[in-house]
Amino acid sequence: MEGLKVLISEEEIQKRISELAKQICDDYKGQDITFICILKGSIFFTVELAKKMPCDINFEFIRVSSYHGENSTGVIKMKVDLQGDIKDKNVIIIEDIVDTGRTLSYLKEYLKSKEPRSLKICSMLDKKERRVCKLDADYVGFNIPDKFVVGYGLDVDEKYRNLPYIGVVEFEEENS
Ligand code: 5GP
Repeated sequence: MEGLKVLISEEEIQKRISELAKQICDDYKGQDITFICILKGSIFFTVELAKKMPCDINFEFIRVSSYHGENSTGVIKMKVDLQGDIKDKNVIIIEDIVDTGRTLSYLKEYLKSKEPRSLKICSMLDKKERRVCKLDADYVGFNIPDKFVVGYGLDVDEKYRNLPYIGVVEFEEENS
């Protein structure tokens, strides 16, 4: 695709998701798990991960808005809230990418208040050097450098989500 450089190929993503699925299954030893998919960016990752897991998985969806174009505003708003009860459930938040950590810090506190039995975070990507909140994901697909990425659910103004790989957008320099 023009203006995009492949950072993580489709094959690498599939291989890593299989590894994560196995790791999570081993950790939960056949217990039921509730995946909370953070819309819209995590849909591809959530589906692929769940398809590779032999245990029972319930799905919940949350949508927050915190990001506009290339820069985070830091203000998080709940757009779509949980439909089901997660009290006493083994919950894993499935996120596309951890950047500043603001979104997940907010969501972690919010979900903790619903009293799940356990609460973990699984993120496909992690941009550790951008962190402003103390937040660690329990499961991470790939640690990546501080680049704006798209594909595999991640967009730029709603574009590129359906790419089967992770690409880096090469923004054009503006003429001064
Ligand atoms: P945080 O709250 O950790 O700063 O940001 C989390 C959200 O910002 C992610 O769920 C994602 O929607 C968006 N985001 C952060 N970095 C990127 C990126 O490199 N590319 C895209 N497309 N979205 C990003």
